[in-house]
Amino acid sequence: MRWFPLFLDLRHRKVLVIGGGTIAERKIDLFQSAGPRISIVSPTLTASLRARVADGQFDWAEREFQDSDIDGAAVVVAATDNDVINRRVAQLATALSIPVNVVDNLELSTGILPAIVDRSPLVIAVSTEGSAPAFARYVRARIETAIDESFGDLALFLRRVRDRIKDRFADLGERRRFYAALLDGAVPIALRRRRPTEAEAAFEAALARGVQAVGHVDLVGAGPGDPGLLTLNALRALQAADVVLYDRLVSPDVLLLARREAKMIPVGKAAGHHSVPQEQINQWLLDHARAGRRVVRLKGGDPFVFGRGGEELEVLAKNGISFAVVPGVTAAVACGAYAGIPLTHRDHARGVRFVTAHCRSAMDDVDWSSLARERDTLAIYMGVASVDQIERELLAHGKDPSTPIAFIENGTRSNQRVIVGTLGAAASRAKDAEVGSPALLVIGTVAALAVELAWFGQSPDVPAPDRVAPLRRRA
Ligand code: SAH
Repeated sequence: MRWFPLFLDLRHRKVLVIGGGTIAERKIDLFQSAGPRISIVSPTLTASLRARVADGQFDWAEREFQDSDIDGAAVVVAATDNDVINRRVAQLATALSIPVNVVDNLELSTGILPAIVDRSPLVIAVSTEGSAPAFARYVRARIETAIDESFGDLALFLRRVRDRIKDRFADLGERRRFYAALLDGAVPIALRRRRPTEAEAAFEAALARGVQAVGHVDLVGAGPGDPGLLTLNALRALQAADVVLYDRLVSPDVLLLARREAKMIPVGKAAGHHSVPQEQINQWLLDHARAGRRVVRLKGGDPFVFGRGGEELEVLAKNGISFAVVPGVTAAVACGAYAGIPLTHRDHARGVRFVTAHCRSAMDDVDWSSLARERDTLAIYMGVASVDQIERELLAHGKDPSTPIAFIENGTRSNQRVIVGTLGAAASRAKDAEVGSPALLVIGTVAALAVELAWFGQSPDVPAPDRVAPLRRRA
């Protein structure tokens, strides 16, 4: 290691920046959050630096560098494109033992600026010792995704309780073990849920009895298939999991992202027949959580949209198990996006309705006349098996048979298919194209846009041109 990372207290101290271009500006941005006095010396400034000077954010000497500028500086940055000036600045600063960074010149520099992850008071500095700053930024981005926003609060929390932990555990080894367990326990979970009082209570309990493993269930939406649609929180939960209970709809690509050591339990539910009864799933969730494990209950799409997520949480709540919910991209939203079908559109649909056509009893409750009157887009989940009935009822209640429809099968996956048609021929279209599961049915004028706006996977399957009503824009 040639460059030693050292964190400097720069509050109210002078950071001298020579140069006023975009590179100087980037360096200034880095320094600014540490609260120094920034002095710029440069005959010219970028427009935005000018505005910030006018705003009183830093001093500006509108001229070339003079030796005396360096007086009182804690750090110096030379960011001019004039090699003579850069050299002079480096020479002066080095002679005075003031750290100096000369942009793009390691030989003249005695200090380099890292890429920074700032969750103050937790701060992570990443450096490649100048070999590849772009790579340092890449690593920084990876770290940014791995640690969530509550880590700053956690660092603050630990700062407050540090002395008490020291008093309680005089032995260093014992103290280390306590910290390790604490950081895997209920305190970080509570802070992530923005519940400081609960974190406090969990800490007091841990300090009183020693740490005990606490179980926790994250109910996580896995999205429709493309793993890129996972949220950062979903990824973090998967990577912290001891156990993952997942539904059939969750794509294998998503499962690959779980922590390698996690126990993966399929509890697949295919429409109609439940391969693992709900009571059994509930029981497993309880058992694993009570054994102190971090459990991820992983569901396709969003867990609260036709996912029975609510029912499982009620069981957990009733039994006092800690839980959190991570939303996922629901099929309607994802399939719309990946099929080029905007679910709402100022010309065609003011709103969208998510409807389930899960089974006969669900269908009996449907208010068909309201659905048929709707100008809103209808996004029908689990509708392929009942498409005959959907078509028949909507037509019987007055919906125009020329209303465009689209089936999106395996939405967002590499084998996505989009089948466009009209309501009047919906059932026959599904049969001819052999639409399989999972598929979403979109009904409404916007469905026809799939032809024009397709961008993902194979082109939409379109019937003979005269069978799709052309889109009429409102005058
Ligand atoms: N909670 C899920 C929905 C579960 S119901 C969500 O928010 O998306 C299951 C239905 O969702 C399927 O029958 C199908 O209609 C729809 N679905 C889920 N994933 C899909 C996908 N990748 N492509 C098309 N439809 C999908």
